[in-house]
Formats: sequence, C-alpha cells, structure tokens
Amino acid sequence: MTAMATETKPGAAVPATVPKNGGAPNSWGLGDGQAIPWEYAPAPESREIVTIRERYGLFVGGKDVASSDGLTFTTIDPSTEEPLAEIARATEADVDTAVRAARQAQSKSWGKLPGRERAKYLFRIARLLQERSREFAVLESIDSGKPIKESRDVDVPLAAAHFWYYAGWADKLDYAFPGRVAKPLGVAAQVIPWNFPLLMLAWKIAPALAAGNTVVLKPASTTPLTALLFADLCRQADLPPGVVNIITGPGEIGMALVTHPDVDKVAFTGSTAVGRKIAQGIAGQGKALTLELGGKAANIVFDDAPLDQAVEGIVNGIYFNQGEVCCAGSRLLVQESIADLLIAKLKDRLSTIRVGDPLDKNTDVGAINSRAQLDKITELVAAGVAEGAELYQPACELPGRGFFFRPTLFTNVAQSYRIAREEIFGPVLSTITFRTPEEAIEKANNTPYGLSAGIWTDKGSRILMMVKRMKAGVVWANTFNKFDPTSPFGGYKESGYGREGGLPGLQAYLRLEDR
Ligand code: NDP
Repeated sequence: MTAMATETKPGAAVPATVPKNGGAPNSWGLGDGQAIPWEYAPAPESREIVTIRERYGLFVGGKDVASSDGLTFTTIDPSTEEPLAEIARATEADVDTAVRAARQAQSKSWGKLPGRERAKYLFRIARLLQERSREFAVLESIDSGKPIKESRDVDVPLAAAHFWYYAGWADKLDYAFPGRVAKPLGVAAQVIPWNFPLLMLAWKIAPALAAGNTVVLKPASTTPLTALLFADLCRQADLPPGVVNIITGPGEIGMALVTHPDVDKVAFTGSTAVGRKIAQGIAGQGKALTLELGGKAANIVFDDAPLDQAVEGIVNGIYFNQGEVCCAGSRLLVQESIADLLIAKLKDRLSTIRVGDPLDKNTDVGAINSRAQLDKITELVAAGVAEGAELYQPACELPGRGFFFRPTLFTNVAQSYRIAREEIFGPVLSTITFRTPEEAIEKANNTPYGLSAGIWTDKGSRILMMVKRMKAGVVWANTFNKFDPTSPFGGYKESGYGREGGLPGLQAYLRLEDR
C-alpha cells in the first residue's frame, strides 16, 4: 500500500505517481517532507483459532435452537463481502419463549442466588473471556471489519474488564447504596449495535447479571457472531439456563423484544432515530429505560496545547474503529492562530495511516461495517464537498473488494454544513476554527447531541472552566477515547439518557427501596 499525501476528490482515482514533497510539511515527521517511502510487509493474524459454523441458532434457555419458522439471514465479512454464516431469524414467538426463559431463570435460580454466588459466575466469564481472547478478537474483526489490533487490545480486554468489575459489586449491593435496599428489576431486554459488538454486550450483560437480573439480548444483524460465541462461553461457564438468552433478527424483532409485556428493563445503544422509536414504543409500560445514542463530539485544541500529542488524540478520536464510534471526536475545533500548523501536522500524520485488511496487525483503519454504512458516509462526504468544504484524503490504495473508505479531513467547514451537524459514523473529520474560549464553548455546544468532548490545553484552570460549561456526558482532557469500567458513560439531549459503567451503571439495573 502506498502511503503518500495528496489532495483528492471523493471516489477519484489515486494518482499513479504522487508529486515530490507530496503535501507533507518540512517541519515534521520524516524531516524531508516526504511521506513514508516504504511499505509494511503483511502481518496477518491467523483465522485458524476460530471455527465459524455454517449455521447458528438462537440461544434460549441454555440451548441452541432454530427459529420457530426456520428462517435465517446471512452475516458477511465486510472486508471481502463473502458470506460467513447463516443466522437464525427470530420470530415474535421466539421472543416470547426467550423472555419466558429469562423470567423463569430470574424467579427460580439466578434471582435466588446470593450475590457471592453470582459473582463466581461473573468472575468465571471474565476469566474465560481472557483465556479465549484471541478467538473473540479474530472473530470480532472478521464479522465487524475492525482492525485486529483494536479488537485484540481494546474491545476484548475491556469486555473482560467489565465482567471483572461488576463481579466485584455482586456481593456488595447491601453496601453500595447506603440506607437503601437494592433489588433486581427482573428481566432486561438489551439491544446493541454493530460498532463494538462484544464490548456493548459486556456493558449490558455484566451489570444486569451482577444486580440479579436475567437478560434477553439482541445483537445487530451485521455482527451477531461474537454474541453467539459468548453463548458458547456461557455454557462453558455453567451459567444456569435462561440467565442469558441471545436472539438474532431484524430491528422489528428488537422492537418486539423491548415492548414485550414481561420485560422490566430496556437498555439500548444505537441510533437516535431508533432510540426515539423505542422510547415511544414502551411509553406507559412502566419499564426502566437507558438509551445510549449518537454523538457529534467537539475535540477542542487551544493554542497552548502540546500539538504533537493533540494530533495523536485527534487521530485516535476520529479514525479509531473507522470513526464508527458514538463518542468519536468528529468536529475538530482549533484555535485560529495555530490552525494552519495543526492541519499541516495532521495531514502529514494521515499519510502514515494504513487502511486495509482488518486481520493485518499493521492495519489502522479496517473495513466499514456494511454497504449501507459506506453509502451513508460517501453521501455525507459528497454533501460536504458540495456545500463548499475543502476535502483532503491521503492517497492510500484501498483493497479491491470490501467496504473501505479513506481517512478524510475537511477544512473550511461552516457550522451549518451537514458534515458539521450530522453523525457520519465514519472516518471523516470536520474542522472549524475559533478565536476565544467563549466561542469554542458556544460552537462545541451547538449540536443536538451531547455525548462526549475533548479539550487540549496546557492550563488546568481552563480545562475545569470548559468542562463546567460544556453539555457533554464525558469530557476528556489532553486525551480522547479513554474507557474504564469504573467510569460512567452516557449523554445529554439527543445522545440519550441514563449512564452505563461504574456505580450508576449498576444502579440502572436495580430498584432501590427504603430500609
Ligand atoms: P440502529 O440504531 O438501527 O441499530 C442498532 C440496533 O438496533 C441493532 O441491533 C438494530 O437491529 C436494532 N434496531 C433497528 N431498528 C430497531 C427498532 N425499530 N426497534 C428496536 N431495535 C431496532 O443503527 P444502524 O445500524 O441503522 O445505523 C444507523 C446510524 O445509527 C449509523 O450511521 C450511526 O450514525 C448510528 N449508530 C449509532 C450507534 C451508537 O453507538 N450511538 C451505533 C450504531 C449506529 P438490526 O441490526 O437488526 O437492524
């Protein structure tokens, strides 16, 4: 793969030769203004560790069962567009069976276990996830398109960390909320997206089980495989049947699940549009609800920031996981006095990003999760160009097959442009300048979302002043995309409500009563 910087139009052919001094500034990097002149040898992770079955059933009551009408759908590898497996397509009758299995397990087995016994199972799951981490990481990359170095170093370790963390709470519910008695809610319906399939499963299942609930979880249709491998891990951990149930199928099955009358708690991560439908669908049913929805985070760089570190934070903020991240730093707000220098450094850094095979250990940006998502990104990037923003993409070659998109940087962006307002969910960064902290705050908050933000500055007092005035659930200072199971995560406004992670994430699965 060549990795040299140049200006291109979206979809334009990559020039065969790149002009000397192809856009990289003399001030940085390799010193002579040239982009990397050599290529990395392929370093593919082996697929051997994973056995992908031809067909997968639903995981209900501890058993692998076909859907009641026998229908299936296909999950594909987004980096090759090849089919991977046939997946059972649940019906409403299957949803009902799964909720009954969860109810029975909650009232007969799981709900009666003392916390220390539940903790043993959760510790066991955490340990098994670590033992089988390579298998989960490879499968996650194959099914979702994310680079193996991210599934290996971020998704799977963090998923295990959530089970470790919540296992520790399971026997401490009596002390966690002073003066209150904590009781499980009952049966939780959980619907998760495709961008962090295993990690979102862990965010949902670990606190639910620690609190004494049982669950029925629906993964996204494009990424069901690690959830189904997790079903296998539940059997390996001897989890009582019905404590975890996994049903696969389209959005309407997600709706049938969350609106099922015997569900007590609903947890959803995904788009704001679907979050809204779910809130409407369950209105008046008395169910507890947490919604973790979209975002359009501002990553704000002041003129006193350590610029080289900021560049790494910006790259991590928007190109991590192909930018398919709800809290991605998709709006770069840069102080006008340093804008030219920062953009030059950023363009130079972009020329070193490697796009390609998700299973190659050198890959930084893998495949976009689906054709539909690639089309959405392409459409929004074209809208950015049409509205007048200036487009920059490094001239890396893209694989001939699969859903790939070049890391994209827009400058000259007005706040009214679609690329500055809409969640793109792709490797696309929109740059906006500001002069004063006041202006930065106003522009950062000028969005219907409020999930996350980043601030880069040398001054601690400025960080504290900004954090207080920004409407974002998480604000990172001189870093970005840092996650920890002890730290609550969630949004304001159209980014949803409720918190996951930490003690608030546990409380979302409990009913607190007076002693
Ligand atoms: P969705 O919100 O449609 O999907 C998330 C989950 O909800 C999936 O499991 C999906 O099932 C399910 N679902 C879909 N429709 C319904 C429904 N009516 N009732 C209940 N569950 C439903 O996201 P998309 O995959 O369509 O992505 C569209 C956009 O959403 C992205 O471009 C991105 O902007 C945003 N998004 C945000 C995420 C976040 O973490 N905040 C995550 C994913 C997407 P199925 O897969 O079967 O359709």
